[in-house]
Amino acid sequence: MRILITGGGGFVGSHLCEYVLGQGHEVVCMDNLSTGRLENVAHLEGRQGFAFLHHDVTIPYHLDGRIDHVLNMASPASPKDYARLPLETLMVGSAGARNGLELAREHGASFLQASTSEVYGDPTVSPQPEAYWGNVNPVGPRSMYDEAKRFAEALTMAYNRSQGVKTHIVRIFNTYGPRMRPDDGRAIPNFISQAFRNEPLTVYGDGSQTRSFCYVSDLVEGVYALMLSDVMEPVNVGNPLELSILDLARHVLRWTGSESAIIHEPLPVDDPKIRQPDIKRAKKLLGWTPTVGLEEGLERTVAWFREPRRQMAARAA
Ligand code: NAD
Ligand code: UDP
Repeated sequence: MRILITGGGGFVGSHLCEYVLGQGHEVVCMDNLSTGRLENVAHLEGRQGFAFLHHDVTIPYHLDGRIDHVLNMASPASPKDYARLPLETLMVGSAGARNGLELAREHGASFLQASTSEVYGDPTVSPQPEAYWGNVNPVGPRSMYDEAKRFAEALTMAYNRSQGVKTHIVRIFNTYGPRMRPDDGRAIPNFISQAFRNEPLTVYGDGSQTRSFCYVSDLVEGVYALMLSDVMEPVNVGNPLELSILDLARHVLRWTGSESAIIHEPLPVDDPKIRQPDIKRAKKLLGWTPTVGLEEGLERTVAWFREPRRQMAARAA
């Protein structure tokens, strides 16, 4: 098959490109490199079946030849990135999703939208099942991302219902692993970079807010299984192991061997207090379950950041 992966130059997208190629398919990786890096896919350049197209998905495009699936991963994803790129984030969730859906319609391809646990906002139920409609502030400082993703989900369903496009929606929960940018502002790359610099780890608020972190190889397998399935309703993909951010900081100190202190900084406005995926649907309909535990995943991630040139980047971040 020939698969278009938008946002393929990013953290998750580059792992998806690699995985999909490894399954014997061709990949067209499209990215404008706004938050991604060419370096993430440099090792795939020249490999048979891989092509990189530098393009902004909010600008309509056509592709020659067949396309069997569109995996629409393009969007800033870190709170620091989408705060810096608010209009771009809203445009990629709207025009970008529409252009991907149009391409899927033209080619008779399926379309998979990368959505997020952020559609649940600051949840009032835990864990969060797909049937929960969420608690989102539509005008708050995270709204450009949350509402863009909610719109992208609505658009995906509208193309499904009115245009006959086969669609999928994956609600991704916090994912981590190699190739996260050391300066992307998310908790894991921030903590690892700070630990390498022997600077204090910055825990926002008292650190009692929780997240559930999924290792990237588990996520990629879930996305691929969803792409191949007939499941049209949204599916949570994440690791249900929930922990506080303060505990996460302590784990990072242990895995980096750093003696950095932990300090507290103000909690960002609307920062969700809890987040844990209910993954019954993914288990039942996709036969998917995460297999990489936090210790193993953090060990691999720290090892990747530890390589000398990356450590330099982490020190400079
Ligand atoms: P990332 O920032 O590393 O990757 C996003 C990629 O999209 C980048 O390569 C960026 O350059 C590209 N992009 C952004 N706007 C574009 C545009 N207009 N045209 C073309 N390319 C564009 O982020 P990530 O963590 O890899 O996230 C990938 C996807 O998964 C995003 O859609 C994100 O919302 C979703 N997601 C990720 C997480 C997570 O924890 N990593 C959680 C929930 C959802
Ligand atoms: N966080 C933190 N220190 C940091 C970066 C993030 O305490 O240096 C917190 C953030 O406030 C949130 C959690 O860690 O409660 C996860 O943040 P991240 O940006 O990784 O993902 P989010 O779930 O907020 O999108």
